[in-house]
Amino acid sequence: MTYPDTQLFVNDQWLDAADERSIPVRNPATGQVIGTVAHATREDLDSALDSLQRGFDVWRNHTPAERSKIMRKAADLVRTRADEIARLLTLEQGKPLAEARGETLAAADIIDWFAEEGFRVYGRLVPHRSNLAVKQMVIKDPVGPVAAFAPWNFPINQVVRKVAAGLASGCSMIVKAPEETPASPAALVRAFQDAGLPAGVLALVYGDPAEISSYLIPHPVIRKITFTGSTHVGKQLAALAGKHMKRVSMELGGHAPVIVCEDADLELAVKTMGPAKFRNAGQVCISPTRFLVHESVRHDFSRALAEFADGLKVGDGLAHDTEMGPLANTRRVTAMEALQEDAVQRGAEVLSGGRGLDKAGNFWAPTVLGDVSADARVFNEEPFGPMAAIRGFTCLDEAITEANRLSYGLAGYAFTRSLSTADRLTRKVEVGMLWINMPSSPSGELPFGGVKDSGYGSEGGPEAMECYLATRAVSIMHR
Ligand code: NAD
Repeated sequence: MTYPDTQLFVNDQWLDAADERSIPVRNPATGQVIGTVAHATREDLDSALDSLQRGFDVWRNHTPAERSKIMRKAADLVRTRADEIARLLTLEQGKPLAEARGETLAAADIIDWFAEEGFRVYGRLVPHRSNLAVKQMVIKDPVGPVAAFAPWNFPINQVVRKVAAGLASGCSMIVKAPEETPASPAALVRAFQDAGLPAGVLALVYGDPAEISSYLIPHPVIRKITFTGSTHVGKQLAALAGKHMKRVSMELGGHAPVIVCEDADLELAVKTMGPAKFRNAGQVCISPTRFLVHESVRHDFSRALAEFADGLKVGDGLAHDTEMGPLANTRRVTAMEALQEDAVQRGAEVLSGGRGLDKAGNFWAPTVLGDVSADARVFNEEPFGPMAAIRGFTCLDEAITEANRLSYGLAGYAFTRSLSTADRLTRKVEVGMLWINMPSSPSGELPFGGVKDSGYGSEGGPEAMECYLATRAVSIMHR
């Protein structure tokens, strides 16, 4: 199968950029250029915004049942095309084919879930304090055309969480999808087009991220911004949106603590956290990253995690036996080198991996670092790569303090057989999502988002719909 050149999607048409400019796309497993993606001009953005306003007027007047029917059809098309889409995703992003297929099928489930949730956008009637002839209504309306910015680590999932919730709420959307991984989100958008989404309801653009966001965010047509990516960029975009009084959702970075208690089931901890750590080569915002392990079990846990890492088959995601693919871009390899060097200089022990692979492509071996100092960069900056960093602790309070020390608060994990410890962790660990004795299990129906510097708003559950709805109060005196 060949890899396509990806075009912009504006007003129901697939188009090259007005000035025909494009950006090369590389396969991270080989470093080879495999295609191009159109680089939107200001003119392209203006046509998209024009159609987005018209699309909003059409889509907001569809009933939830009409919206749901189109969305469900798009979900079916994504399922039917899953093999084809997964292959594009692996070619451009690097993850193993099975992970790419899983991401694609999960996208269809997310669309279905929001297609149903669209039926449940209820208002309410509030009794008036003194006059029963007054009908006080609370009404939920779609907030308006949305600008969505999505990154390259889950090129389909990060787009679908925004698009499914936004469309189910009745908003039109312009998506700035990742230039490094453009074909799979384009395939997702094509499924909506083929399912009969009216013209102008969804637009897809690529180009210079900063140029596009600085044009779209202040633009009067846009009423709401949603961004997934680094905290650093998220803060800039949120500040710009604040200046123009635009609604915002931010799904930003994390640095997930994993608290392995004295009474943990170690086999379970390794069996769940091993695959979770190296899934998508660690380029996951909820990836387990700071392993805080009770001193009494630290040695055994560290050795078992290192053995798991050593046993992983690393290679081209298209090969059937690959368990971990390359990093998505060369920036991540450079980052791994720097984090590793810094950790070792501060006394960390390399228990597994700790090096690039001697072949073309952006490969970094699954890495486990033991005895990592709390001031090592890898314990403070989101590694966003296949690197697990382990430290010991002696009492639970110490682990909780360390878990909460950073400004991040996205995901957290813990392993314990004690109900009271689980309860204490539930109350004390400052994260938006906590999984105890299990791997992460995000789904359409569960809120997905962080606290503190990991952002605000949600990308799952009814809370995700709220992000795309405006609440109004209307009162009528019956005469
Ligand atoms: P980056 O911070 O430059 O970019 C992160 C994402 O933001 C990319 O998709 C990029 O296209 C986009 N972006 C950057 N500047 C932008 C702007 N001015 N306007 C709109 N979009 C903009 O870094 P990167 O090298 O691409 O990724 C590295 C870091 O980003 C990682 O270390 C990780 O912390 C974070 N990241 C997080 C997620 C997530 O799921 N939360 C996903 C991808 C990257």
